[in-house]
Amino acid sequence: MPGSPSVAAATVGWRFDNTYARLPEGFFARVLPAPVRAPAVVLVNHALGDAMGLATRALSAEDAAALFAGQMIPPGADPIAQAYAGHQFGGFTVLGDGRAILLGEHRTPDGRLLDVQFKGSGPTPYSRRGDGRAALGPMLREYVVSEAMHALGIPTTRSLAVVTTGEPVYRDRVLRGAVLTRVAASHVRVGTFEYFAAHRQVDALRTLVAYVVERHFPGLAGRPDAALALLAAVRDTQATLVARWMGVGFVHGVMNTDNMAVSGETIDYGPCAFLDRYHPDTVFSSIDHMGRYAYAQQPGIAQWNLARFAEALLPLLDDSRDAAIALAKEVVHAFPARFEAAWLAVMRGKLGLAEAHPDDGALAAGLLAWMEATGADFTNTFRALTTGAPGDGAPAKWLGEWRARLAAEGRTDADARDAMRRANPVVVPRNHVVEAALAAAERDDGGPLTALLASVTRPYEDGPWHDGQRGPAPEGAEPYRTFCGT
Ligand code: AMP
Ligand code: MG
Repeated sequence: MPGSPSVAAATVGWRFDNTYARLPEGFFARVLPAPVRAPAVVLVNHALGDAMGLATRALSAEDAAALFAGQMIPPGADPIAQAYAGHQFGGFTVLGDGRAILLGEHRTPDGRLLDVQFKGSGPTPYSRRGDGRAALGPMLREYVVSEAMHALGIPTTRSLAVVTTGEPVYRDRVLRGAVLTRVAASHVRVGTFEYFAAHRQVDALRTLVAYVVERHFPGLAGRPDAALALLAAVRDTQATLVARWMGVGFVHGVMNTDNMAVSGETIDYGPCAFLDRYHPDTVFSSIDHMGRYAYAQQPGIAQWNLARFAEALLPLLDDSRDAAIALAKEVVHAFPARFEAAWLAVMRGKLGLAEAHPDDGALAAGLLAWMEATGADFTNTFRALTTGAPGDGAPAKWLGEWRARLAAEGRTDADARDAMRRANPVVVPRNHVVEAALAAAERDDGGPLTALLASVTRPYEDGPWHDGQRGPAPEGAEPYRTFCGT
């Protein structure tokens, strides 16, 4: 391995406190990242490193490559793969980190505890038939989209680095192997609870509830009904999260319960993509034949996933199964109202409305119906409203209703525009732009990727950094398809 373990990489500023690795046996397996032939840095997110109190800027390229390929395990790390299960496209499966290894949990200078996880770092006891590896394109894609989501203000896992391994990975063709370093509030998923529920390990379930409460919902600590309170809290964070996805036209693409983090962060960027033309039935994923995870299905699927979470928690809700089910139902059935409230708040923000009004839903729906009928670009339509540019905007009748609504708040659209510019991005990662940047990066031309990142990490400010990054897709482009890149 080039780049021997160096003092610099070890002392980059880690402050590990590996709470998950201290949970009982059965929650995880200890496993080290596989050795790789020739690690090389593609991207390091120094801004994130700074925020985490890590001196990534001081690392040599060689040390950074060794560190982020998992070839130099820093003192205090305790690498593990986590056990979990999940409903994938509706069917239950026992899974676990098949190609991810949690290096450890790092305490930031501002006191947050963050998972630092390698994705694509080799096989684990949970790999099943997989090789534990990842290809460069999908890891860069996760880096770009997660960092874009963060810049859009949407809770998400982050991306600290992408390195190539110097080794091939074999998919439908030979690809370049890569490792992503992912940073998350935690990697506990709905599927983590399902794992213990499926194995009828009620003590482990109770331990997991206490763990998640302490880590993510400390306000619920000590409550006798902690499991029920946790269910309600996760319902509310998911309702808010999915409403915010809808507000930027994000389609996650694979909302399996193992890809639903209880922290409320967006996680597992596989076949995700952003809408160009608005249509509620939009599906990008090549494997989502039934449109289960289409744009407009997302709130319903979040509720379906929440119901799986509730089922897993049943043994903790009440000694009587019937009573437990009644309690769970009440919480889960409140999801649509919570989502609606969160969605209306998002739409009011996008339309520059400061006050709630009974007709807000109809006003937003009116614009969306026009966009659907005309195939208008989602991002550009909303951004055009903030510029007051005529023509590219919305139909006169709708504009009239909207202006009347603003006037009722004592504002003109000019007054509202400032706030609207902070709610309606100039850019999202456009599918054709992302693909072109990834293809160039495959050929070791990092220019387009750098330009893309410079644009999508400043989405609300208009300026020359968005040149070449704006949509929509060129006329006549094929319908965009994403692949569950592994
Ligand atoms: P995903 O659809 O990416 O969320 O992955 C679903 C499950 O498959 C997870 O448990 C992953 O760890 C596992 N997995 C995906 N790709 C691989 C791979 N190449 N090798 C081993 N496990 C994998
Ligand atoms: Mg996953």
